[in-house]
Amino acid sequence: MAYDWLKGIEDHYDIVVIGSGLGGLTGANVLAKCGHKVLLLEHHYQLGGLATWFTRKGGHIFDISLHGFPIGMIKSIRKYWSQDIAQSIVQLKGVRFINPQFQLDTTFDREDFTRQLVEKFKVAAETVERFFTDLRAMNFYDHNTETTGQMFARYFPGRDDVQRLLMEPIAYANGSTLDDPAITFGIVFSNFMSKGVYTFQGGSDVLIKKMAIELKKNGVELRKHVTVEKILTEARGGRKQVVGVIANGRAITCDAVLSNSNIKNTVLRLAGEENFSPDFVAQAKAVRVNNSSCQVYLGIRKGETLPHIGDLVFTSDEPVFSSEKLMELRTTSRTFSMYYPDTRPGFDRYTVVVSLNAKYEDWNQLSPEQYAAEKERLIEESIVALERHIPDVRGKIDWKEAATPRTIEYYTRHWAGTSFGTKFEGLKVSMDLPVQLPGLFHAGSVGIIMSGWLGTINYGVIVANQIDKALSAKKRSTVAATI
Ligand SMILES: Cc1cc2nc3c(=O)[nH]c(=O)nc-3n(C[C@H](O)[C@H](O)[C@H](O)COP(=O)(O)OP(=O)(O)OC[C@H]3O[C@@H](n4cnc5c(N)ncnc54)[C@H](O)[C@@H]3O)c2cc1C
Repeated sequence: MAYDWLKGIEDHYDIVVIGSGLGGLTGANVLAKCGHKVLLLEHHYQLGGLATWFTRKGGHIFDISLHGFPIGMIKSIRKYWSQDIAQSIVQLKGVRFINPQFQLDTTFDREDFTRQLVEKFKVAAETVERFFTDLRAMNFYDHNTETTGQMFARYFPGRDDVQRLLMEPIAYANGSTLDDPAITFGIVFSNFMSKGVYTFQGGSDVLIKKMAIELKKNGVELRKHVTVEKILTEARGGRKQVVGVIANGRAITCDAVLSNSNIKNTVLRLAGEENFSPDFVAQAKAVRVNNSSCQVYLGIRKGETLPHIGDLVFTSDEPVFSSEKLMELRTTSRTFSMYYPDTRPGFDRYTVVVSLNAKYEDWNQLSPEQYAAEKERLIEESIVALERHIPDVRGKIDWKEAATPRTIEYYTRHWAGTSFGTKFEGLKVSMDLPVQLPGLFHAGSVGIIMSGWLGTINYGVIVANQIDKALSAKKRSTVAATI
């Protein structure tokens, strides 16, 4: 008989959290600290969602999305997790660009970018200053319809080299394009520019394990290998509201659900169209998911070393930056995340993770034979590209493997295997959810802004506070009714 992954759980919880991405984990932690009884259900055998890792023969550990995040993570982790976790966040100083237009090394902060833009790119200092100041003043609530491409044309007309310097890393970080609203670039770019790029020393495995310990300490019931199949609703007082979930075939009742599953999955698959107004369903259907990713994982044989060529190396053979080219099946634009031994102190190994943006449709339409062949091509092209910087690297590699948008879909169940949630319009649907269906909340990558490690953690906190408020008001009215 199959093992019962829900063995020992109770029949009712205050909140059921669907999914253990950073948004779900953080939401669960905040809610538990507020005194609520929380059950977190994850379909995968590991917690973390996209903030995850895997191990392979030969002693390799590969991180999926630990390439870098803004300094704001230190404050968010300290406040909503622990000082112990926050103190392992360290700066990555070696960011390198190598493309036909320019080669440069940077600490990826405002001071260094200002210097490079003025001295190397010969942009007027006042223009650079005005650009940074205006970006910093961008507000999430502004209704500015300008696109990132239009904004670049306003500050740096005819300068596709400057556009590339500014846009390429952000396109890798949040999947945004030149056609997305300027705010999706501005907020994320400004966050990075404030103090550069940071990482978690110890690796994603240590981070997520520490988070799991914290969750258990705060009383969260954590279950892996559990898929939520349905969100249950009932009409009460003439209105539909959330009353529970079906998970691994079992009904569990609750007062609220916090879904960390993709917003389209949450509305259209888990809750179902019948629970929303036709207008809202149309809005949810119209939400465009963001693009996806491919990765190549290269494990370096024990005892071998690699020279320091930078921590994050953005490379491309494209003559100029193009959002479309960046996502093409055979793109030449790739980021090398170099993991030296200091990623995991005490562990003497090197790994290289190559990331490429990708379109789900390109990979989903391939036959099994074509799919296998394209993965092989991806691996081979990545090694050839790395050999330009480390000529003898091929002989040092003893593990190579590729992941595609289909891999992401398989492990996270995300709609069209998206790595970065949804385009801008997804944020409104996510925020309107509890108004449409009381008791249902969503936190996770939406609107490009609320994506990436920092965005999803902060969104998890915002939504957890809304749930706390809603449940506390409900509890107060129940108490009032009984006295
Ligand atoms: C290749 C790649 C590189 C990236 N690099 C960076 C980076 O360097 N820096 C950065 O800040 N961000 C990066 N990101 C983005 C970042 O990882 C994500 O934005 C963030 O981790 C998403 O968190 P989330 O809360 O939205 O949930 P996700 O991580 O998307 O997790 C959702 C979870 O819900 C679970 N789930 C879904 N449906 C169900 C169900 N029905 N039942 C049970 N469980 C369910 C899934 O299994 C998953 O665990 C990268 C992403 C990718 C793919």
